Amino acid sequence: GGPKADALVLFGITGDLAKKMLLPALYRLTARGELNVPVIGVAKSDWDDEALRSHAREAIADVYEVDDEVFGRLADKLSIETGDYTDGATFSRLRDRVRDHGFLSHYLAIPPSLFATVAEGLAGVGLNENARLVVEKPFGHNLASARALNAELQKYFDEDHLLRVDHFLGSEPVDGLMIARFANTLLEPLWNRSYIDNVQISLSEDFDVADRGSFYDSVGALRDVVQNHLLQVLAYLIMEPPSSPDAQAWLNEKQRALSAVRAIDPADVVRGQYEGYLGVEGVKPGSTTETFIALKLLIDNWRWAGVPFYIRSGKCMSVSSTEVIVELRRPPVTLFKTAEGEAPPNLLRFRMEPKAGMTFDLLVEQPGNEDKPVPVPLSVDFSTVLGPGEMPYEHILSGAISGNPELFTRFDLVEESWRIVEPILDPPETPEPYAVGTDGPAPAETLPGSNGWHVLEGVRER
Ligand code: NAP
Repeated sequence: GGPKADALVLFGITGDLAKKMLLPALYRLTARGELNVPVIGVAKSDWDDEALRSHAREAIADVYEVDDEVFGRLADKLSIETGDYTDGATFSRLRDRVRDHGFLSHYLAIPPSLFATVAEGLAGVGLNENARLVVEKPFGHNLASARALNAELQKYFDEDHLLRVDHFLGSEPVDGLMIARFANTLLEPLWNRSYIDNVQISLSEDFDVADRGSFYDSVGALRDVVQNHLLQVLAYLIMEPPSSPDAQAWLNEKQRALSAVRAIDPADVVRGQYEGYLGVEGVKPGSTTETFIALKLLIDNWRWAGVPFYIRSGKCMSVSSTEVIVELRRPPVTLFKTAEGEAPPNLLRFRMEPKAGMTFDLLVEQPGNEDKPVPVPLSVDFSTVLGPGEMPYEHILSGAISGNPELFTRFDLVEESWRIVEPILDPPETPEPYAVGTDGPAPAETLPGSNGWHVLEGVRER
């Protein structure tokens, strides 16, 4: 990603992502003394520095209790340059303002249709020199458009100076999957086709698309969270350990892992749309956009051949929960049965949201019930033991400033993830309707094998 930046140039500082995520994250970094560079916003709204600071204060207060001393330190670092990205004069003014700032990190929290425009505008005034470019998601809407976008950006920034955001990579419980796998001797011997029956990755939300109907309708569940976030989670789950701990070695292994994932068979996919979606403002009449998707992935390598990985994600589900559930194979010979019959399989559960933690369903003897096994959870809630963690965008913004590429996705990974979903991107069929508060349409229930979907933990926010 290049050297540590001397200033962060934040395109889109007046936008929704900045309000909800970036400004609060900058505040938290400031509180910990980790924001040591100026932040120069660039956007169209005709704001001055004071307007930006009062907007920032309100945005932060929506999420955290604002400490005046901390906010004061952040406010001193914030300023804004206004102008349209399609106007070269905007970039000339920006260049004059940042002339003395050394290495720059340009962070594009703007509509993706403007990524190339801004890269070109920066290059027009030489601000692509001694600088890196950080772009938000989405990176293209299919393989061809991702390649076209990449080619545009690489005209002005080489790969070493390009970072692509996938905010799941800034999530501590997602990143923590690698510690769980590679710092514990317990898991690795089991982590293969001999002991794992199937793996279920779920991102379930118990809320609707709210006021983002028009955005969501052009995207759908597959593009919104599966192609990017959940395939990144998959890569962490299936990758081999790298031979060295440096960032490129990790990225190489993730790429190699995804390259073994078969492109998805349309027969292994169920799409759903919650009842009432068509009435949401901004949703096209008769829209066939999916608000739910369930699918099966197969991996053609020695570790994983024959082990299905299931992904399930939806809006308006019964709970909000992001989890990975690993179902182990049963013992080779059945010696113990429960009162109902076969004992349930061992499950290993990695919970990312809402409360990060891990659970192992251990079978133990039921009291007073000789030789009858019963599952009990061996469970740890990370925040109870370790205290609260940091939010994804704190790590993403730190990485954007430091240039550490580990928390970003490399273009070859982006290509692999679009290749995997390419056969199911543009389905002609109508999604199956499902009732609000359920876990998707009935046909999805029978997608995974004999034990079905495991019940998600999580919370109900409604
Ligand atoms: P947004 O609310 O529409 O904000 C867009 C920003 O770009 C505003 O600051 C806007 O400035 C500026 N802008 C747009 N066109 C411009 C132009 N021609 N000249 C100058 N400034 C211009 O978008 P967003 O929701 O924050 O999304 C930004 C990026 O983050 C997108 O890539 C999106 O996919 C990604 N993202 C968003 C979310 C989210 O929850 N919002 C989540 C994940 C990723 P003015 O407002 O001053 O005009």
